[in-house]
Amino acid sequence: MRKNIVAGNWKMNKIFPEGIELIKEIKEKSKELQNVKLIVAPPYIFLNEAGTILSDKQIGLGAQNCSNKINGAYTGEISPEMLTSTNTEYVILGHSERRTYYNETDELINEKIKICIDNRLKPIICCGEVLQEREDNKHFDVIEKQIHGMLKDISEEQIDDIIIAYEPVWAIGTGKTASSEQAQEMHQFIRNIVSKLYNNETANNISILYGGSCKPTNAKELFSNPDVDGGLIGGASLKANDFIEIAKSF
Ligand code: PEP
Repeated sequence: MRKNIVAGNWKMNKIFPEGIELIKEIKEKSKELQNVKLIVAPPYIFLNEAGTILSDKQIGLGAQNCSNKINGAYTGEISPEMLTSTNTEYVILGHSERRTYYNETDELINEKIKICIDNRLKPIICCGEVLQEREDNKHFDVIEKQIHGMLKDISEEQIDDIIIAYEPVWAIGTGKTASSEQAQEMHQFIRNIVSKLYNNETANNISILYGGSCKPTNAKELFSNPDVDGGLIGGASLKANDFIEIAKSF
């Protein structure tokens, strides 16, 4: 059966000592949690130290991106193999901020997914429509295209390592949250796509997270939906108490 997951995407926030303190605080406070897998995705340079602090793997460690190349002359890039060598187990791919500011396409994200899985990294793959697309009633088409593009030639075996995050772009960092009905409707739609591409069992086993201004005050309602298996949390993951409160919402 699929897992309940709460993953924190720290984005480009915190300096090194603050980040390490936050990881220690989250680790301490997470001891009271049951029935939910926590993942933290700090900036790259925190991963090595975080990998040591979280070496018992009770909390999963994730990166926010990685290269689509194995190794070589790619200045400034970080390879999947480098990430696994620091105890990093997960990687967020295709976040809307990477799509918007760094022109990442479904094709590039698909390349990254393949190379990550080859290197034992579990991708958290993001999809989401912008406000105009929702207002034009194109949100289902947009999500279907993104999922198909990202999962191109991904085998039934490989999909088992993937987590999907639905993150309506209009809800990210804006304080606007998708309603519980909007989230459930889209998550069910995504699960149906996975079922058509693979099979029912795969669709039932895949965790689909909601992201977009999720906080302690709205997490319970969002997570109570049958197809919402947790959250990808931005802003609220930067405070240990809020992050843990969200994780307690199951
Ligand atoms: C995110 O960026 O993945 C996100 C969901 O951000 P926020 O929770 O701040 O809206």
